[in-house]
Parts: sequence; structure tokens; C-alpha cells
Amino acid sequence: MENHRIYNFSAGPSMLPLEALTRAGAEITNYGGSGMSVMEMSHRSKAFDQIFQDTKTKLRQLLQVPDSHEILFLQGGASTQFSAVPLNLMGRTGKADYAVTGHFAQVAAKEAGKYGQVSLAADVSGENFTTIPAQEALRLDPGASYFYYCSNNTIYGTEWQYVPETGAVPLVCDMSSDILSRPVDVSKYGIIFAGAQKNMAPAGLTVVLIRKDLAGQELPYTPLMLSYQTMIKKDSMYNTPPCWCIYMLGLVLDWVAEQGGVAGMEKLRNTRAGMLYDTLDQSRLFHCHAEKSARSGMNVTFRTGDEALDAQFVAEATAAGFSNLKGHRSVGGMRASIYNAMPVEGVEKLCDFIRAFDRKH
Ligand SMILES: *Cc1c(COP(=O)(O)O)cnc(C)c1O
Repeated sequence: MENHRIYNFSAGPSMLPLEALTRAGAEITNYGGSGMSVMEMSHRSKAFDQIFQDTKTKLRQLLQVPDSHEILFLQGGASTQFSAVPLNLMGRTGKADYAVTGHFAQVAAKEAGKYGQVSLAADVSGENFTTIPAQEALRLDPGASYFYYCSNNTIYGTEWQYVPETGAVPLVCDMSSDILSRPVDVSKYGIIFAGAQKNMAPAGLTVVLIRKDLAGQELPYTPLMLSYQTMIKKDSMYNTPPCWCIYMLGLVLDWVAEQGGVAGMEKLRNTRAGMLYDTLDQSRLFHCHAEKSARSGMNVTFRTGDEALDAQFVAEATAAGFSNLKGHRSVGGMRASIYNAMPVEGVEKLCDFIRAFDRKH
């Protein structure tokens, strides 16, 4: 079965480590002698509680989450957090700063506008989202309830290479597409959230890291299920959590730990991305969408400048076993998503393919 696996460059859901999938397969009908699948377990059972707590502990260790912060395992995807963040935090001062560096940050800013006054601390839509603003360029309001940004812009292939400095204003970050790919100082953040389906687990789980003192200030009409305070009090089990995804996250985190943790992931990330960008830079045919200083280590966006040739590249690549390389419709061209679980070998082979295509055309 394993030799039927292809290199899947999907932006999400995306590849999971083979080791985690194999383990899940081995345990799928009978987890740890329990006589049942994790999918069939009560979320209040002893066996599942162990999985839940172990997974939390592993994540806390790998990301070095300080005691000041709670880890929540929620549902609704990253997009639900676009509403949950303002509902919970906007009440602090009634206004918030948003850095719009891509599609998802733009959606989040618009959503937050329903609940308070949103100021755009940066907006690079005019540059077609090819760049990331410098710290000096951020228009910061010291009275903002929070400062919001998205560390990796999945669609455009740009990534913040620094953590914004915002003084006493809490940082909120959507890390859906680069969490666990490089070390992060969690203590600098008020909230970090991420949909699991890019770098962590199957779709259906959203991880939220929240500084505990920021909870409990939600707007009065905040839906029960979107209240961080509710979820902190109930340890993410106010209702049924996404049990299977949490279990899968645990298996993925075991794999991350075996590869040297987040530092190990960063090494692999630099190897993969370095190789791919070098190959593209050395080609005559291909150009990257992102400015050099803003290039993402997770989503590599590129094109030939000729739509027909782009389509031919994608078709030939697909036939050669490289799937999901078509770019997002708003950018066009190609996008290779090279998350944690993409083997270095997959990128090596893609680079060979790119070089051969470049020579041929
Ligand atoms: C994929 C993605 C989202 C949307 O995630 P859902 O879980 O589908 O809601 C939001 N932000 C970023 C950065 C993403 O990559």
C-alpha cells in the first residue's frame, strides 16, 4: 500500500506522516486493548481522557507553551476563530488592529468589523499580496484591544519573518499553515490559533493557545460555544470534542518529537524550501509570486507567466505523481505546499521535474 502513495502538494488538508497513518491503521479497530476504535469511544472514558491529556502535554512540550496559556482543542476550523477572537477580545476597548497580508487575514478583518472598530495596521492588497510589511510600516494603535495577523499566507505564499512588536497590545495570530514548522515564543502572544489540517492532524480540529487572563471578557451576546472562558473551564469538553482528530494529533506529535521536535521541523523546512526556491530561481521559465524577503517556507507560489504553459506543467506533474500543484484561483500559476509531513525526497523529485520542464521549454 505504501508504494501507492504519491507526493501530495495540497494546501490543505495535506499530507500526514506515514508513521502516524500506519499506527492509526494498526489501532483502528482496537485501541490499546480497549476492544474499540478511538472513533467509538466516549469522550468521558478513561482511555480517551488519557489520549486527550497526553496529546495536550506533548503539544505543551513541543511548543513550550507556558503555564500562563491554556491549550484548547476546538471545532469549527480556523474560520470560526475569525469570529471568536473579536467576540472574546473586542470588548476590551472596542477597537482592534488588523494586518491584512492575505486572503484569510482579510476575511478575519471584515468579520471583526461586525463587532467593533477595525483599523488596518497594514494592507498589502495593493501589492497583490507579494510582500510582508516591515515593523516600521505597521500603523499601531496603543488603544487597540489586540493586534491581529496571519503568520503564513497560505494562498499567496508569503510569511512573516519576525514577530510584530506591539507593546502592551496582545498579539493574536492565525498560524494555521505554519504552526510547528519553526520555533515560536508562545509567551509573546495573547492568542495563537490554527486549523489542524495543514500541519497537525485531519480536518475537524482547531487548536487555540490562549493567555488565560484574556478570557472572560467576551461580548454579552457571544455564542456559548465561542466563549473561550467556557472552553477553558471545561478543558475543551463542554461538549464532545473532535476525539479522533485529537488522537491523530497525538500520533503526529510523536512523529514530530522523533524528528527532533520543532527545531527538527525547522531544519527540514529550510531544506525543502531552500531547494525548491533555488531551483525556481535558477530556471529561465519560472518566477515566484512572493518577494524574496517574504517567501513562505510552507507554500511556494510560482508561475511561468503563460497560463497555457502553467496548465501544461500542472498536467504533466500530476501524471508524474505530483498532485495538487495548481495555484489558488486568485493567484493563478502553481503552488507547492510543503508542510512538515512532505518528505524531502518529494521536493527533490519535484525539483528534478521542474529542471527537466525548464530545459524542454
Ligand atoms: C486554511 C486556512 C484557514 C481556513 O481554515 P479552516 O479550518 O478551513 O477554517 C485560515 N487561515 C489560514 C492561514 C489557513 O491556511
